[in-house]
Amino acid sequence: MDTILSLSLKQTYVRSKIVANPKDIKMEIDKKKCVGCGNCHAVCTMGVIYLDEDGKSVVNQDECVECYTCYRVLRNEGYIPWFVRAIRKILSLFRLGYLAEVDVCPTGALTPPELKWPRSIRAQFSDPTTTHPGTGIRGRGTEEIKTNDVTGRLRRGEAGLVVEIGRPGTGAFFRDIEKVAVALAKLKPHFESKNPITQLMVSPETGKLRDDILNEKALSAIIEMKIELERIPEFLHALEQIQREIDTVTSVGMASKCQPDGTIPHEEWVRKAGYILSPNGKTNIGLGRPLFKEKES
Ligand code: SF4
Ligand code: SF4
Repeated sequence: MDTILSLSLKQTYVRSKIVANPKDIKMEIDKKKCVGCGNCHAVCTMGVIYLDEDGKSVVNQDECVECYTCYRVLRNEGYIPWFVRAIRKILSLFRLGYLAEVDVCPTGALTPPELKWPRSIRAQFSDPTTTHPGTGIRGRGTEEIKTNDVTGRLRRGEAGLVVEIGRPGTGAFFRDIEKVAVALAKLKPHFESKNPITQLMVSPETGKLRDDILNEKALSAIIEMKIELERIPEFLHALEQIQREIDTVTSVGMASKCQPDGTIPHEEWVRKAGYILSPNGKTNIGLGRPLFKEKES
């Protein structure tokens, strides 16, 4: 599958704490209630709900990332299933159809998940309302570089590198995320400790993730590290190699502290590596007070 190195690039397609619940109910569709209207198919972030031979919808459990979108987005109208089916049947006799409003599940057939480990890791990375237990942050579970002016994660002479693996529609298995982490770990970066993927590593020296999550799937996940600026080419080339071995898309982002004259230190090293920076970027302006002191150069 093609991969995009969003940040930069010209020549390439680069782009816990664990809480276990007592039950393990996955995102399911109650066949006794489903009337096969198809509304949930359109809102599924992974496109993994399909109509079964019996005219009722089914979730592909291997591919479902437990993002909760189908359940959260569609209102439960609470109609009685046999009544809706009867109406549909009668209307069909007159070659008419019953179309539910697009933002409803007319009979409340979607069953919300109550997940236990390791399946719950899917929701932690895919449902934006779920908080990562190890970082206390929702979504992908990391502040990335956005709060750097306050936290000072990244200092002068350093580059922050984020590798996002998976996107809606494709997702990413943790076994693929592990392949990328292992390839990068060989180059000995400093993996960010307040990042959920780092916290799932058996050891940051190897990049290996815990075995019990490897066959789980997430909408996307971010590997986050800092490296010396001059090592940027080495890391980008390693990413280009490893992306050929994974079955999903990858995006790469980079950050460094602007110089007083406004220049961006990592730009030069990205160019030296043979890539072209994409102009998408953002400037965060905040009023936070730095919690660190930069060394005088
Ligand atoms: S929206 Fe509800 S009733 Fe319609 S297909 Fe999906 S689960 Fe079935
Ligand atoms: S939980 Fe997400 S991935 Fe799973 S069926 Fe619902 S929308 Fe699709």
